[in-house]
Amino acid sequence: MHDVIVITGGSRGIGAACARLVAPEAEMVIVGYASNETAAEKVVSDIVAAGGRAQAVQCDVGDNEQVIRLFETSASLGSVTGLINNGGVLDVATRVDAIEPARIERIMRINVLGSFFCAREAVKRMSIKYGGKGGAIVNLSSAAATLGAPAQYVDYAASKGAIDTFTVGLAKEVATEGIRVNGVRPGIIETEIHASGGEPERAQKMAASVPMQRSGSAEEVAEAIIWLMSEKASYVTGATLDVTGGR
Ligand code: NAP
Repeated sequence: MHDVIVITGGSRGIGAACARLVAPEAEMVIVGYASNETAAEKVVSDIVAAGGRAQAVQCDVGDNEQVIRLFETSASLGSVTGLINNGGVLDVATRVDAIEPARIERIMRINVLGSFFCAREAVKRMSIKYGGKGGAIVNLSSAAATLGAPAQYVDYAASKGAIDTFTVGLAKEVATEGIRVNGVRPGIIETEIHASGGEPERAQKMAASVPMQRSGSAEEVAEAIIWLMSEKASYVTGATLDVTGGR
C-alpha cells in the first residue's frame, strides 16, 4: 500500500488510467495536470466515487518552482511513496533539419528536465537517508527511444532516450535508500497525444505495423506501470519494460 502517489499528467491518457488503477492501493492519489483542470477533476471524482482519495494539482513539470509546489502540497497530505513521471509532450511531424530552437527546448524541458525535477523532489521525501519511508518511481519512456522516430519527431525520441539513461542512473544512485526506479516504453497507444502531433488517427493508422496488429490502450500500459510501482516488483529496479505489442 502506498501513502501518497504523485502522477504527473494524471488528467488524461496513460496518467489518468494509472490514477484510476492505483487508487485502491494508495491512501491518496495526486492527479497532476498542466492546463486541463476539467479532465483532472473528472479523474478525481471517479476515484472518490469508487471510495478512494485523490486531489488535482496544477503543475507544469517543466517549471522548477511549480514542481517544488506540487511536492510541498503532496507531502502536506501524507508521506510521498510513489511518483509516476508521466506528463510529456510531442510536436508535429518534422525532419531534424527543420526543428526550431523553441520546439526542441520545449520538448526537452517538459520531457527531460520535468522528469528530473519531479524525481529530485520525490527522492528528497522518499529516501530513508532523509527519514522517508522509501518508495517507487516509474518514468515514462517510449518505443521511440529505440526506434528514433525519423522524419516524425527525433527530438521527442531523443528526450525519451535520455529518460532511459536517467532510469538506469537514478536506480543505482538510490538503490540502498529504499527507492526503486523503473521505466516503461509504450508503443502505439490510443490517447490524445497523437492529436497534439497533428495526427489524431495515428494509433489506428499504425496498427498494421505492430506485430500484434493492433494499437494498445492506456489501461494496458497502466497495468505494467502499477505492477512496477507495487511490492510485487520488489526486486526490480533500473529496468525499462516495453509495452508495445512486440514492436
Ligand atoms: P496525453 O493523452 O497527451 O496526455 C498528456 C498528459 O500530460 C496530460 O495529462 C497533460 O495534462 C500532461 N502534460 C502535458 N504537458 C505537461 C506539462 N508541461 N507538465 C505536466 N503535465 C503535462 O499523453 P499520453 O499518450 O497519455 O502520454 C503519457 C506519457 O506516455 C508521455 O510521457 C508520453 O510521451 C508517453 N508515451 C505515450 C505514447 C502513446 O502512444 N500515447 C507512446 C509512448 C510514450 P493536461 O491534461 O493538463 O494537458
